[in-house]
Amino acid sequence: STIVADYRARTPASAALFDRARTLFPSGITHDTRNLDPYPLYVQRAQGSRKWCVDGHEYVDYFGGHGALLLGHGHPAMVEAVQRQAALGTHLGASHELEVRWAELVTQLVPCAEKVRFTSSGTEASHMVLRLARAFTGKLKIVRFMGHFHGWHDQVVAGAVSHYDGGVPVGVLPSIVDLSIVMPTDDVAPTVQLLEERDDIAAVILEPSGASWGQVPLPPGFIQALREVTARRGVLLIFDEVITGFRWSSGGAQGALGITPDLCILAKIVAGGLPGGAVAGRRDIMDLLDFAATRASKREKVGHQGTYNANPLSAAAAVAALQIVASSDACARASATTARLRDAMRQVLVEEGVPWGVYGDASSFHIFANPNGVPVDPATFDPHKLGFRGLKGARDNALVGKIRMALMTEGVDVMPSPGGLVSAVHDGADIDRTAEGLRRALRALK
Ligand code: PLP
Repeated sequence: STIVADYRARTPASAALFDRARTLFPSGITHDTRNLDPYPLYVQRAQGSRKWCVDGHEYVDYFGGHGALLLGHGHPAMVEAVQRQAALGTHLGASHELEVRWAELVTQLVPCAEKVRFTSSGTEASHMVLRLARAFTGKLKIVRFMGHFHGWHDQVVAGAVSHYDGGVPVGVLPSIVDLSIVMPTDDVAPTVQLLEERDDIAAVILEPSGASWGQVPLPPGFIQALREVTARRGVLLIFDEVITGFRWSSGGAQGALGITPDLCILAKIVAGGLPGGAVAGRRDIMDLLDFAATRASKREKVGHQGTYNANPLSAAAAVAALQIVASSDACARASATTARLRDAMRQVLVEEGVPWGVYGDASSFHIFANPNGVPVDPATFDPHKLGFRGLKGARDNALVGKIRMALMTEGVDVMPSPGGLVSAVHDGADIDRTAEGLRRALRALK
């Protein structure tokens, strides 16, 4: 198509790098989400809300470091903190002051966080939080939700990115898949009933935004109902705030909703754009990781290691980022910009007569590209009416690839859902460029 031809014509240096990469990496990439046919974009540098590919073209960036960069690329406070710490030591093989300051900020900002443990990624935090929940309750089963992503370890992959109809993803341990129960989200009633009936459930874990940071929003009252039934039944409620933490509000989704889980996991923004994650929550649960507390309670301590836990470089970036989150309107500003961006994109759909939808919460947006051609009015589009299958099950990878490439040609890089995560430094110029880019991309796609 001309879209692929235009992309190829603009990006020969990316094509040349991919020729080398394809012989080295499976699919030539290092994260499944970066896959793009015929080849992905290679980015050389980034600053603020923009990034530049190896052919020198500029893009408004909606990847935002997979959501890690609430403050945009190269924020001076982060650059300074990381440079200073690199000279002082990248790994001290010891406890250090920055990890203490980091944990003080997390416990100050996140409502459920009485105590914290740092990990190297969201996946590790997800692994640890489920271990803690099982240890605390003495129960084995975990309730999860269809399409809710909690990283790529064996306990959480089935039904999250594939296998919506059951089954075991290849290479994953079947005995572990059997220990989680994947529930639908179109209605909370079956989950409430399950929790009323069974006594073998340790925890319920969910993305409080709905699957994929709100691509499939939850019905009103869903989380409140979960909070009520889990509290009553002695089941732990865990929010996966890897995306929503420090983004839905400075206190995450729990701050925005006013609903406090027992535990949460954090990553991305929590580490200021460097690798890192955290488990945070109730003191009595977190104390299962504590040597003295478990000796006193005569309980077996939960183990936790990890070479890069709270490493000084991540801690330096994290403290710089969270200090800004705590002392400024960064979250609110990013959300306000994104509301204007969604309006501007919606307006383009209306003007171009395209039956798609734009929606999202806080500083996120999702584009419903209507692969099955259902009747949609972009002016009044309501994702709740489409349900899980309508919004996510119907994803057409070829169409999404074309949309992404058409937008890239117009200088806009969206995430493959398609959608995006917006920073506090995106501004009116970014909105205008995105709206006009979308208009031209839609015409190219016709
Ligand atoms: N949980 C959610 C909601 C995520 O979006 C992600 C990553 O995108 C993870 C967990 C896993 O985090 P990580 O990629 O740091 O392992």
